[in-house]
Amino acid sequence: MKSTYKFGTRAIHAGAEPDPSTGAIMTPIFQTSTYVQESPGKNKGYGYARGKNPTREALQKNIAALENGKHCVCFSSGMGATDAVMKLLKPGDEVITGDDLYGGSYRIFTKIFEPYGIKFHFIDLTDASNIEKYINKKTKLIWTETPTNPTMKIVDIEACSAIAKKHQLTLVVDNTFASPYLQNPLDMGADIVMHSVTKYLGGHSDVVMGALITNSDALHEQLYFILNACGANPGPMDSFLVMRGIKTLHVRMERHCHNGRIVAEFLKNHSKIEKVYWPGFPEHPNHAIAKKQMRDFGGMISIVLKKASLEDTFKIASSFHVFSLAESLGGVESLINHPATMTHASIPKAEREKAGVVDNLLRLSVGIEDAEDLINDLKQALA
Ligand SMILES: *Cc1c(COP(=O)(O)O)cnc(C)c1O
Repeated sequence: MKSTYKFGTRAIHAGAEPDPSTGAIMTPIFQTSTYVQESPGKNKGYGYARGKNPTREALQKNIAALENGKHCVCFSSGMGATDAVMKLLKPGDEVITGDDLYGGSYRIFTKIFEPYGIKFHFIDLTDASNIEKYINKKTKLIWTETPTNPTMKIVDIEACSAIAKKHQLTLVVDNTFASPYLQNPLDMGADIVMHSVTKYLGGHSDVVMGALITNSDALHEQLYFILNACGANPGPMDSFLVMRGIKTLHVRMERHCHNGRIVAEFLKNHSKIEKVYWPGFPEHPNHAIAKKQMRDFGGMISIVLKKASLEDTFKIASSFHVFSLAESLGGVESLINHPATMTHASIPKAEREKAGVVDNLLRLSVGIEDAEDLINDLKQALA
């Protein structure tokens, strides 16, 4: 598989060699926990399936190719991947991260790793010049998400990378919202890219999985060691489903972006909407950076309803016919989510509201249905 092939070709072919025993074009699901050894320690490179599984390896090669990375390690969930990154650190270390994070990332940082002695600074990363104020001898890592969830702020990856390099910090970018189709943080100087594969990569709302991609042999070795030692490995069936999902990633993303634009523009002109968060608008405060580092603007949109109480917001959230009220995002089907009580409920109300996650905010994951049906559904729900 040549690395010069374009994205769509890599999505379909990278990592997917015909099975040597039969020629099967699809990588088989190696549903096994262990591998027979010829004599103790003499095996075909596979000992026990927590460490290695051929279906997972094919998927890892594929995801690495999509992120222009050398290595990928897959985990049983995005949180499993995040957990592994934090285990690179030691008590006393400090992390600088955004004030507008995925709720589960905030939860694992504050509820699991703070008690283990790691300190987190939650700051506004949209202005990279803020970062250096928080750097001291104990700082080891910068963790960022862009676009952020759910207020779609954009963080300048190159600017963060320049600061990380100057102070020898590891820069990790959660690239879940953009997907590798829209943005490749390693090319902009990130050290590790994290994905909740559950979302756009899997794309069909049928698998929970995570991935870490890096160009560093040393980081890869440590992350793989953590995977095998701690055991958050994904199964072969899930690996197969994600490989199958990724074969259409470029086609799906094109439609997500197309529908996203139509929906964002419709909502912007709607009398019941106070605010639409979408990085594709020229007046979005970080639009220029979004344009610089993303190929298009995606299908994630958040809206603030005009003068709506929590009750009004719930009523609207429950009155869709095509959009489904559910957590998660990035699947072929359109979803609507109420962050304050769903994805971001684990963030204290005061913190949440400071980041703009107010009670009358709804987040849309615009799917790949017919755009006209989506607009009609929004019209009737907002009527
Ligand atoms: C869903 C999500 C995660 C967590 O991933 P899981 O696969 O659900 O464990 C992390 N970051 C972002 C931005 C997400 O949307």
